[in-house]
Amino acid sequence: MGTKYCPVCKEVVDAKVLGRYSQVEFMGIPVKRRKIIHLEEDGGCGHEWYTVEIAEEVLEL
Ligand SMILES: [Zn+2]
Repeated sequence: MGTKYCPVCKEVVDAKVLGRYSQVEFMGIPVKRRKIIHLEEDGGCGHEWYTVEIAEEVLEL
């Protein structure tokens, strides 16, 4: 479990990470991709989605 932003509920909720993450490229940037579910048994909406984690250094801010 962890706090994640659910794109359906449009708020930060307790959501579960499913399985392992994969290291992929997203828009040419190396990112960590995870599948997330907002479990209905935890009062969530049941939606599944993916998140990507990006090192700040690769973003030219
Ligand atoms: Zn939700």
